Amino acid sequence: MKKILMLGGVALIPIFLAAVLVIGLMMTILMGGNNASGNSAGGGFGWGPGSLSNFGESDIPAQFLPIYQAAAEKYGTPWNVLASVHRKETSFSTHLTMISGVGAEGHLQFMPCTFVEWNHPSCAGGVGKGDFTTAEKESLSMIAKYGGYGVDANGDGIASMWDIEDAIFSAANYLGKSGAASGDIEGALLKYNKDTSYVAEIMKYATLYVEQGYNVIEVPQAGQNGFVRPINGAVTSNFGMRTHPITGKQKLHAGVDLGCYNGEPVPASKAGKVIFSAWQDSSRPGVGYGQYIRIDHGGGYVTTYGHLSRLIAGVGDTVQAGSVIGECGSTGGSTGPHLHFEIIINGSPVDPMPFLGGK
Ligand SMILES: [Zn+2]
Repeated sequence: MKKILMLGGVALIPIFLAAVLVIGLMMTILMGGNNASGNSAGGGFGWGPGSLSNFGESDIPAQFLPIYQAAAEKYGTPWNVLASVHRKETSFSTHLTMISGVGAEGHLQFMPCTFVEWNHPSCAGGVGKGDFTTAEKESLSMIAKYGGYGVDANGDGIASMWDIEDAIFSAANYLGKSGAASGDIEGALLKYNKDTSYVAEIMKYATLYVEQGYNVIEVPQAGQNGFVRPINGAVTSNFGMRTHPITGKQKLHAGVDLGCYNGEPVPASKAGKVIFSAWQDSSRPGVGYGQYIRIDHGGGYVTTYGHLSRLIAGVGDTVQAGSVIGECGSTGGSTGPHLHFEIIINGSPVDPMPFLGGK
């Protein structure tokens, strides 16, 4: 399966702290030394707040992230655990034959008896393959009758181990009800597969997939020309002529201001190459854009990200839409944390909102 570029479905995750859990070699190699070191104290489930790591971004096919996230929200099983299980079971659905020697089936390699339920007479004393017709394995009434874990996530009226959404949701349902939703992730995984080395591998990759632990993935929608909204916060100042909040002068506000919290990750709106990443004037940190980044997207399109508290991408870096390039802040001429975002076409700033799917 090919990885899609993160143009349409972009995975963005808030980062609440600058510290990361994954330290040492992996960090040096996989994260390019871009993250401040240090251990974070964990939040719920033993995971600290955090985000998709660079490793996660490179390892997990992007199209699955929204499905993991939706399943995580519904069943309480962390998305990174679902991603790790998916990796382990079928290498993200890339195995040619997604049916195992003992009868596990589909994207997440369910045993039919787990999917429909072990109370089914054909499951008694067996390894879990049972004796079902395909229709019986996918039957919602059969699953309801026996109390199985299969769910119909895509709304087509059947619960299929061979449908990616159904499979991921069913795994989230199973793991969530087996303890993951209340924090016992390892215990839940041990029920899925009784091999402790399996559990250790799932936990290892689940940890590598995040910088500081489980968190919500937001999926911004791409607007015109493939630009995605870098911050979901409210527009606090529109593009156009305005009285400058600090100088009091009438001046073109060359971008849109999007409310954010200090340290919120700022993604690239579109793939491109970083052409500026520095203070506008380090001797005057309260002036202008403060710390800002500019990205050249080709075709005459450039974007600007102003008032950053932290610069992550450097000049010359190639970035994808959704790649975290910096953190939101209030550097430069700013009265509070916000992202000043510009789209510049052939040297002239334009109103970014139509490009972001807004007005
Ligand atoms: Zn602004």
